[in-house]
Amino acid sequence: MHTGISRIIADLNEVAKFVNFKSQRADIIALRPELLDIEILSGKRTYTIGVEGISDRMRRYLHKSLNELELLKALEHIYAKKPRQLKLFFMITGLENDKDLKEFKDFIMKLKRLKIGLSPGCRTIMSFGLLVNLPFTPMQFAPTIKDPDSIKQIKGDLKRDCETNGFEFRMAQDMEEFQVSQHIALGGFECFETISDFAKKGGYFDGEHITGDKNALISSLRSASGEGLSGVKDESYVFPFENLRGAPAKSFLYRMYNEARNFKDSGYCLLGKGECIGCGGCEDRKLSRLPEVGKEDIERLKKIVELKKKPQTVQAVVTIKEQGRFLTPEAKCAFIGRAVFEHIPSLVKDYLACRQVQNMPASKGYGFLFGRFLYDFEFMGSSDVFMGYLEKNKIDSPLLDISRVSEKEIGNSFRITSVWKDVSKYGFQNMLQDFLLENGMGFDIRKTDGVTYFEVAAKDRKKKLLNSAALRQENSIVSLEIETGSNFSIVSLLKHLFGEEWMDAKVEAV
Ligand code: SF4
Repeated sequence: MHTGISRIIADLNEVAKFVNFKSQRADIIALRPELLDIEILSGKRTYTIGVEGISDRMRRYLHKSLNELELLKALEHIYAKKPRQLKLFFMITGLENDKDLKEFKDFIMKLKRLKIGLSPGCRTIMSFGLLVNLPFTPMQFAPTIKDPDSIKQIKGDLKRDCETNGFEFRMAQDMEEFQVSQHIALGGFECFETISDFAKKGGYFDGEHITGDKNALISSLRSASGEGLSGVKDESYVFPFENLRGAPAKSFLYRMYNEARNFKDSGYCLLGKGECIGCGGCEDRKLSRLPEVGKEDIERLKKIVELKKKPQTVQAVVTIKEQGRFLTPEAKCAFIGRAVFEHIPSLVKDYLACRQVQNMPASKGYGFLFGRFLYDFEFMGSSDVFMGYLEKNKIDSPLLDISRVSEKEIGNSFRITSVWKDVSKYGFQNMLQDFLLENGMGFDIRKTDGVTYFEVAAKDRKKKLLNSAALRQENSIVSLEIETGSNFSIVSLLKHLFGEEWMDAKVEAV
C-alpha cells in the first residue's frame, strides 16, 4: 500500500463522487487501524479481506505472511467500525489436514465472539475458492487439484463450521469450472485445438460460467496436455510464455516454491514484516514503510464529505447517438462524464455524477423515440460554469451530445401528425378508442369545432398512461394531441395506430 494513501484518498474524493476500495491486506489494517477512519469517511461500509489459507500453516504455504493473531486484530478493528458487511476470502489448496481444519474451527469461534461483542448485525460471508496454480507465480510448480473427491471432505467441514456459527458459506466456483480455468491458465498451445473445437460446437466459457459438454472438455484438455501439468514440476519444466520479459525470474519462483512446500514464509519487504526476498521488482531493494494517515488529510476529507452531502443538481438533455444505443446505463454515465470533462476541463473538481431522470415523460416517452433523455447532473459547489457553457454550446461527442433543456421537450404533451389512408369516417377514432380500452382506460367523448376530445376517467389516470387526447382529421391527415403520464410509451401508441408505418408519424412536443 502506498505510504501516502490518506492524501491520495482525500485527493480522489475531491474529484470523484465515490471512492471505493477493493480487498485489502489484513496485516496492514492490524498495524494501521487509522486507515479504517479514512475509509469510513469515504463511505465504505463493506469490507473484503483476502485471508487465503485456512490456517497459519496454509497461509505460510501461500506466502501470505499473515498469522491468526494479526488477522483477528484486523477483524476486531473492522467490527469495531460496525460495517454493513464483511467478506473473508479463503483458498482451498487440497493440502489441508485435520489440524488445519481444527485451527479454522477455533478461528471461527473466536471470530464469532468478536462479532457478537462488537457488531452483531454485520453480515459476514466466508467465501472459498479452489487454488488455481497460476503461471509466473511459485505455485506454477505445485501439483494442481485434480480430483473433486479429494476436497469434498475439506469443503464439507468448512461449510459446517461456518454455518453452525452463524456465518454464510460460499464456494466461488464449481469443480468443473475450476478444472477448465486451471487448464487454460497453465496449459500451452497444445490445448488450442481442444478449446477451439469446443467453441465451434457452441461451447462457451467466460471464466465463471460454462455451457456445453464440460466433462468432455475437461477430458480432452487432460489428454492434450498430458499428466505433466497436474503433477509437481521442477525448474526444467517449460511453462507457456515463460520467456516473456517482466515476469519474476524462474529461479526465484522455484526457490519460493521450495520454501512454500516446506511451509516456510520469510515475509516480505515491508519494514517489520521481513526482508527483501529478491523478487527483482525493484533495483534499490529498499524496504517499504507502513502507510501514514495524516491528520490534515482526515480534516480535509471531512470537509469534502460535508460538501458532497449537499450537491447542486441541474438538468440537461442527453441525446444518445446510434452508436451508443446499447450502452448500459452505467456506461452512458461514464461517457457523459468524459464528454463533460473533454469540453469543460475546469469541471474536473466540481462535477460529481449524473443519472437519468426516472419516470419523466421527456425521458420515457418523447425521449424513447428520439434518443433524447433528461439527466440530473450533480456538482460539488456551483453548476454555473456548466449551465453557462450549455447556454451557448452543445457538448458533442461521438456517442452522445448534451444540451440545455428546451421548454418544448419537457412536459407531457405531444402532437402526432400522420397520413391516414383509411376512407371510413371513424377508422382512426376507432383505433384510438381500442387503444384506450385495451389499456383499461375508460373515457368521455365530446366533439367541438371539428375536434373530438377524449377525457380519460379520473380513476384510470392513476395508471399514468394518458390523461386526454384531442383528435382532428382533415381528408387524409390526422393530428392527435395527447397529454401523457409517466408510464406512457409513445412507441406502443404509434404502433397500435399506424402498424408497420409507425415511424412515418411526426411527433413533436407541444
Ligand atoms: S526486489 Fe524490491 S520489490 Fe522485490 S522483494 Fe526486494 S525490495 Fe521487495
